[in-house]
Amino acid sequence: MGRKKIVAGNWKMNTTPDDAAFLAAAIGRHVKDHKVPLVILCPPYTSIAAVKAAVRGTEVKVGGQDMYWKESGAFTGEVSGRMLLTSGCSHVILGHSERRQLFFETNITVNTKLKAALDAGLTPIVCVGETLDQREAGQMEEVIGEQVVGCFDGIDAADFGKAVIAYEPVWAIGTGRTATPEQAQEVHELIRTLLRKTYADTVDKTPILYGGSVKPENAAELFAQPDIDGGLVGGASLKADSFIPIIAAAS
Ligand code: PEP
Repeated sequence: MGRKKIVAGNWKMNTTPDDAAFLAAAIGRHVKDHKVPLVILCPPYTSIAAVKAAVRGTEVKVGGQDMYWKESGAFTGEVSGRMLLTSGCSHVILGHSERRQLFFETNITVNTKLKAALDAGLTPIVCVGETLDQREAGQMEEVIGEQVVGCFDGIDAADFGKAVIAYEPVWAIGTGRTATPEQAQEVHELIRTLLRKTYADTVDKTPILYGGSVKPENAAELFAQPDIDGGLVGGASLKADSFIPIIAAAS
């Protein structure tokens, strides 16, 4: 379908600015010297400036891990889309399962953030995924359907065309247990089918990334699936030695 592959690193609450600059510089050097997919680094807010400086002159993009939907004001601890954009971010992760589980985010809050991210001019990476209990109870399709419909509620086709989706089964995140390429492909295809009802003209251009214990050993097989357009990588994105082979697997 001609979708460009994307490999995004979600560094979560890891790295000081110095650590982040060192890691980003190593990744930037690889990206500069090779034909690679779109690479996006999502450090903690406090390391965004350091990462941005370290990848200057390369094609590496920088993203936030979350944002609030208001532009400014009395919202202690939050950052806005405009703050991310003006700090050098082009992307923002929304609805990560850790945000949903630990910080009680819902499809409604993700939808509100999605609208604000688009208004700010950021490319949202919208995460969906079922828990192990939901999968074992046969509720995967229902849960993914609710997430997809809820997160994109009220988004028109033009705005939908700017989004990236990440399928991240919660049972595979940080557990070392990866979805098989077939399991992941099945859900990616389901997501595309669900979204085709509303976005028939754009959905085949929308990148859908897989996330959940992507490693150098499993990346190529996952990325070879027809509906898997790259990866959102947590643990393995924290070391150049593991992240660069994943980038290479998508190249
Ligand atoms: C993530 O946090 O988005 C993720 C996929 O983590 P990991 O690769 O460590 O499973």
